[in-house]
Amino acid sequence: MSSKVYRADARAGYRENLFDKLSRLLSEGNLGKTVQRGDLVAVKTHFGEKGGHAYIRPTFLRRVVDEIKAVGGKPFLTDSCTLYPGERKESVSALACAVENGFAFAVAGAPLIMCDGLRGHSARRVEVPGEVLNSVDIGLEVLEANTLVVVSHFKCHELTGFGGAIKNLGMGCSSRTGKMEQHGNVAPTVKTERCTSCGACIRVCAHDAITSEKGKAVILPDACVGCARCITICQDRAILINWGSESALVMKKMAEYALGALYGKKGKALFVNFVTQVSPSCDCYGHSDSPIVPDQGILVSTDPVAIDQASADLVNRAVGLPQTALANGHEEGGDKFRGVHPDIDWQVCLEHGEKIGLGSRSYDLIELQPKGKNW
Ligand code: SF4
Ligand code: SF4
Repeated sequence: MSSKVYRADARAGYRENLFDKLSRLLSEGNLGKTVQRGDLVAVKTHFGEKGGHAYIRPTFLRRVVDEIKAVGGKPFLTDSCTLYPGERKESVSALACAVENGFAFAVAGAPLIMCDGLRGHSARRVEVPGEVLNSVDIGLEVLEANTLVVVSHFKCHELTGFGGAIKNLGMGCSSRTGKMEQHGNVAPTVKTERCTSCGACIRVCAHDAITSEKGKAVILPDACVGCARCITICQDRAILINWGSESALVMKKMAEYALGALYGKKGKALFVNFVTQVSPSCDCYGHSDSPIVPDQGILVSTDPVAIDQASADLVNRAVGLPQTALANGHEEGGDKFRGVHPDIDWQVCLEHGEKIGLGSRSYDLIELQPKGKNW
């Protein structure tokens, strides 16, 4: 059965700006039915890494917060600690980074509460009917909230092809243990002939999982948690992940984690995807590269699989932008995700999500009608 996905394109003018379009979209997308008066509403988003700028602007979150309040909900913004070391590895640093990125109460109009506690271990295990996992470790405050509104920046991703609602749910709502469980089977390898012995990967690895033999980096699979930090730090592209089946396994586990994050939220979850500034990599890096396609707008749905499928289809239908990380697939209909990350079968996440009952890949796209021509 098809799910409904509502879309507002990215055009704006004097009759209606993008904030007002977002309000109309939330109303048409049934925010009023998802949130009941008095509900504590977890608005799960990504607060952005220090140095990045592709994350959703806090002023858009403010509009989501205002609309939740208008229907009687009590919203709070939430995110989780990262598995890798960086500006967001525990709550104190993560919240300081969030405020630096503009996610302050004064801007967003709601408090910031990390969903997995001080160090990313405040969580509860919930059972899931998965194919790989039968239980998952979800941040406690996501489970405690009455309603979940998942506001995701849709972009490419080096491990899963793309990141959107499913990733924000599965990876983003899991505890540190959960993130390790999802990444755990992925150990990169070093292409020795490319290694210039700079030592950058050894310094960045927080798990002492890289050593040096005869001057060349060597990864110790037993110590590696699969955080992928070393891959991007290596300027010589000497560190490679066994992408094939390994990344597929991460995607399957992530979809199963997404199912767990929705535990107890039947009819109480709404997804908002910003298909804007579609950058080539994860927002967890301390930089954001140029977008690979023009902005495709904002989508709303109650189905995390349908909204991600619709977002991916919009990206692939667009004409790719030149002078970006997109290496091929620029033509209309070309595979933009493979064009950036050629070895990732990004469809696995959607296929598995549908298979385990997370949602439907078929959807009806309902376009928000413009309020007259206004440019
Ligand atoms: S960062 Fe790359 S080039 Fe430098 S030591 Fe590690 S693998 Fe070798
Ligand atoms: S070896 Fe690389 S992927 Fe493994 S834990 Fe260290 S930085 Fe992360």
